[in-house]
Amino acid sequence: MSSTASSDLPDGLRVVRHPRARGYRLSVDPASGTARLTVPARAAIKPALAWAQGKAAWIAEQRARLPAPRPFVDGAVLPVADHDVTIVREEGARRALVRDGSRLLVAGPEESVARRVEAWLRQEALALLAAETHAYAAKAGVGVAQVAVGDARGRWGSCASSGIIRYSWRLILAPGHVRRATVAHEVAHRVHMNHGPAFHALVADLYEGDPAPARAWLRAHGASLHWFGKPS
Ligand SMILES: [Zn+2]
Repeated sequence: MSSTASSDLPDGLRVVRHPRARGYRLSVDPASGTARLTVPARAAIKPALAWAQGKAAWIAEQRARLPAPRPFVDGAVLPVADHDVTIVREEGARRALVRDGSRLLVAGPEESVARRVEAWLRQEALALLAAETHAYAAKAGVGVAQVAVGDARGRWGSCASSGIIRYSWRLILAPGHVRRATVAHEVAHRVHMNHGPAFHALVADLYEGDPAPARAWLRAHGASLHWFGKPS
């Protein structure tokens, strides 16, 4: 697969060659708004682009339905682990960033607010996800080598055979039941490296409920989590 971006293309369009593609296909990534034009490996680019140009209205329509960006700026309200927290810029505060109940007080230069709020969210996410992971692991009677957070696009969690479990830090912005169901899923993979019936039974046992609503929430709203911290 190869990918090119060119100034001739409609705004934000990426062309991807795919060996198994038959004909052209357009899609808009709900997590980024990027339009992707998939073409067969040896297809000529010009007619493919002409076809995509003709779909500009469709691309615009898909983009209009995307979640709104939720920039990390003064006054923005963030759903942090089921609690609304408002970003409040403060002049001359003693510490650069401190949470005070439902307020997140951020001092220092304005241009660094977004970066520092994200760093704080990552730290909160790691602490909470690590605690929940270890609690479920103890219940399942398995070990977890390490818990880490990242910002993967298409997955909320992953479990490696080495015993390392990774999550998207953005789960801290999802409802708690969604986060916990994701943790139960990854911890259950420490026992079953598949999605068989025994695996699903263990997830339900750890989570103490049916994780289906959490999965449905992620399908319906997961992409919106990627719009937090984007400049408007
Ligand atoms: Zn899985």
